Amino acid sequence: MALCPECETDLDLDEDELEEGGIVSCPECGTDFEVVTVSPLELNPVEEYDEDEDEEASDEEDEESDY
Ligand SMILES: [Zn+2]
Repeated sequence: MALCPECETDLDLDEDELEEGGIVSCPECGTDFEVVTVSPLELNPVEEYDEDEDEEASDEEDEESDY
């Protein structure tokens, strides 16, 4: 049995089916967790990256060409 680190809902995970590096989602709060280790079970919240920010940053290279 594993509890969600965020909201302490019982995630009802089957530890036999988990593997390191796998992703589990909490049905209650919607947070995704990466399985760090299976035994003992350790979960790490997955941070979502903003892909939009990368695109904006690469736009500005042309503007500083007057030296
Ligand atoms: Zn949760």
